[in-house]
Formats: sequence, C-alpha cells, structure tokens
Amino acid sequence: MIVKGLGAWGWGLAVLRLTLAGAGGWGLAVALAVFAASRLIVAQAPPDWKALEDEMLRHYQAVLRLDTTNPPGNERIAVEYLKQVLDAAGVPNQIFALDANRPNLVARLKGSGKKRPLLVMGHTDTVTVDAAKWQHSPFSATREGGYVYARGAVDDKDNLAAALMTMLLVKRHAVPLDRDVIFLAESGEEGNSNFGIQYMVAQHYPEIDAEFCFAEGGGVTRIGGEPKFATVQATEKIPRGIELVAKGISGHGSVPLPSNAIVHLASAVAKIGQWRPDVRLNETTGTYFRRLASIAPPDTAAKYRDVLSADPKVRAAADDWLFEHEPQHSSMLRTSVSPNIFAGGYRSNVIPSEAKATLDVRMLPDEDPAKFLAEVARIINDPAVEARFGAQNTRPPGVAARADSEPFKAIEAANRRIYNVPTLPTMSTFATDMAQLRARGMQCYGIGPAVDLEDGPKGFGMHSDQERLLESELYRFMRFTYEVVVELGGVR
Ligand SMILES: [Zn+2]
Repeated sequence: MIVKGLGAWGWGLAVLRLTLAGAGGWGLAVALAVFAASRLIVAQAPPDWKALEDEMLRHYQAVLRLDTTNPPGNERIAVEYLKQVLDAAGVPNQIFALDANRPNLVARLKGSGKKRPLLVMGHTDTVTVDAAKWQHSPFSATREGGYVYARGAVDDKDNLAAALMTMLLVKRHAVPLDRDVIFLAESGEEGNSNFGIQYMVAQHYPEIDAEFCFAEGGGVTRIGGEPKFATVQATEKIPRGIELVAKGISGHGSVPLPSNAIVHLASAVAKIGQWRPDVRLNETTGTYFRRLASIAPPDTAAKYRDVLSADPKVRAAADDWLFEHEPQHSSMLRTSVSPNIFAGGYRSNVIPSEAKATLDVRMLPDEDPAKFLAEVARIINDPAVEARFGAQNTRPPGVAARADSEPFKAIEAANRRIYNVPTLPTMSTFATDMAQLRARGMQCYGIGPAVDLEDGPKGFGMHSDQERLLESELYRFMRFTYEVVVELGGVR
C-alpha cells in the first residue's frame, strides 16, 4: 500500500494499490484513489479488541440460542436478555410493546445535545427453519472451523449483538458524546413490522427520532477469503404483491372450453415471465455500478459500464448478460416481477371457474404503483384476467440516504481502515425496517460484517437452510460498529 500526498489540513489523498487475488477472475491489481482516514477517531484509549472477543461471542451466542423464529416471533425472550445485560451495565432502557410477547427495546446514552441523535438497530426475530436440513441444531450456535452456525447468524443477530456491544463499550469507556446514541432492538422485521418498526414510528417516534440510523443490509464482500469491497445500503426496493385472477366458465372436463381459467392464467403468467420491465437507474445504483466497474475484472467491468450506457442496444446486451449470470444485479436495474404462486382447480374432471397467481413485485423506490399495475394489464392483454394489488404488508417509499454525508464518510473511512476496501452505496432488492424511518426523513445506512461471496450460493446465507458467520468477522464488525458510532456521535 502506497500512501502519499497528505494534505496540510488533515485530509489526504491516498493512492492505494489493492491486489485483488482470488476466485471468480477477480485476480487483478487495481489502482484506487481513495480518501485516507481523516484523523484519529477515538480520543480515549481505544478498546482492547482482542480482550473483548470472548464477551462479544458470549452475547452473540446467547441471542442466537433464543428461538425467535417468526412466526410466532416470541421476541420477548431476546428483549429480556438484552434488558438484563443493559441494566447490569447501567445503560438506561425501556420496553415498548403492542403485544407483550413481541416487545421492542430502546436504550439511550445521552450526549450533550449539540447534534441530533444517532440510532443503531438490530431486529430480534428470525425467519423459520427446516431443522432437518441443518447439520448443527439451528439454535445451538455451534462453533466449528472458525464459524458460528445458527439461524440469525447473519440476519440479524450479528447487527443486534454488535449494536449491544457498542452501547456497552460507549458506556464503559464513558465516551463523551455530542449526540445521543439510541439502540433499538425491534421485533417483527420478518413480515410483521406492525409489532416492530411500524408501531414504534406510529406510537413512540420521539423515542427513536434521530438524524441518522444504522441497520442491516450492507457489509463487506470477501472473495477467495479476502475482503474486496464494502456495500452500504442507502435505499431499497418496495415490495408489492400483484394477484392475477382469471375467470371463465366452469364445466365438465370432458368438454374443453375456450374460456378455461387455467389456460388463460397460464398464458398471462407466461407473458409476465418473459417480460423484463425497463431498465431505470437512480443515483444510488448509478454510483454502485460505476464504482463496481472500477474494481471488477475487465470482462465483468465492461458489463457494469454498459448498463450505464446511453445507447439502448449496448444497455440491453449488458442487461441480458446480467439476467443470466448475475440475477441480483439484474433486479437492481428495474422493478422486478417474479410469479411465485399459481393456484387453480380442484379435481381432474371439473373445469374451474377461477384460477389465481401471485406475483412478487419489487418496485424501484420511485415507481408509480398505479401506472405499473396498468402496465402489467397491458402486457397480459386478456380481459379474462384481472390484475390487482394483493393485501400483503408493504413498506412506504422514502428518500435515499446520501453518499456524501457525514455517516457515509465515517463508514467509508472505517472500511478503508479496518478492511482496506472501497465502499459502494447500494440499493437492496429486499426490504428492511429502514423504509419506515426513511419515510420520516431519516438518513439510514445498512451495514454488516464481512461474508464470503461464495457462502450464499453454498447455502449458508441469510434465510438459507443453514446460516453462519466467521467468528473473526464478528469481531471485526464489533470494532467497525463501535468506531463508526464514536466517529459520528463522539465529541469533536
Ligand atoms: Zn433481517
């Protein structure tokens, strides 16, 4: 690493030469111009990170061993644990619950009030498990080969435990604060935010009101065991379900009818399956693909550059390539539609009068839902098939967090300092509890620990049939969270 040209006023331009060696053809050296860390962040003696590993692991394993799978959630047991730890450390906290079994916990460390608060979040519930598919019991938090295995390991008990440790350390080291640091452990993120963030925003907003917030949805990507780049979730897509209902005449199966609802629905779903809505980039995704192109291997980098092209032919070719090879990136380019439920008929000799399909639609943050629904109807082009929005929970649209803000710069500097990687703002294709806060104008950023790019496809990612995190990355994430919070909240 070569660092030169440090400016007189503390900000310097450093030229780093990163060697990207590893899997997937990422083995090339890239020269990157980056901002060096601004200055020493922590005025006090920094925590002894090595000595804190046992404590970090203990809290992480403790929350992983509490079964808070949602449904039914039962997040009360996690909140009881957090409360007891915070109480023992003298960190003031309060519980807010719409349902006694699904409470939320808010802890607050007071600052001078010079600046508005900072909110750090982690959700206490997890998705369900198919225990038979787990090599280690999903709530054992077994340590093996450097990993910890459990449901919630990377969604979201990593963020939860790191946020808890941050509160404990800020208190223990009596870090002087310019702003309150608030910790929210919320319930119901996995599909029942009415108990969690929605309830907190509607009924107790002053308790969590902040200028900035940190939650899940970002992290550091490792390839071939080496950190390559970090992503910070700055905006997210909005989930909407669309139902397609085909109606026809019922009758005896021995006499086929042209109005057969199953046939009409199948044809509608096939048209939707073939359709890819227009590519539309926003400020976040534009920056993401530009920065990714600057660090990716040449072949892939060309595709990322091509999706930004003003030439529709060039863009379409890159779009086709991404759809086949990197579907995650394809979804980031557009409002996506995936037909996920198809239902109709009840016996083989009866032509049913109705059949129904459900489309999982993930809208770009600025999509016009009514126009989009009309577009779906136009693509289907069949008066026998009605398209309508389903009743599923959705999330409100909000303002994307800025990539030139104080928190983004603090995250960027910490990623450079701790992982030696560049930072990319990103839009998640999935929804998070930050949506409700962004809708209130809060600048929210998704962070997370480093995970191997290969781990998801191997079946160890979030919501997979197994879930795991490297212990060493849990410890780095503890330091990352603390340092970013202190950089942003500490007295300057
Ligand atoms: Zn989550």
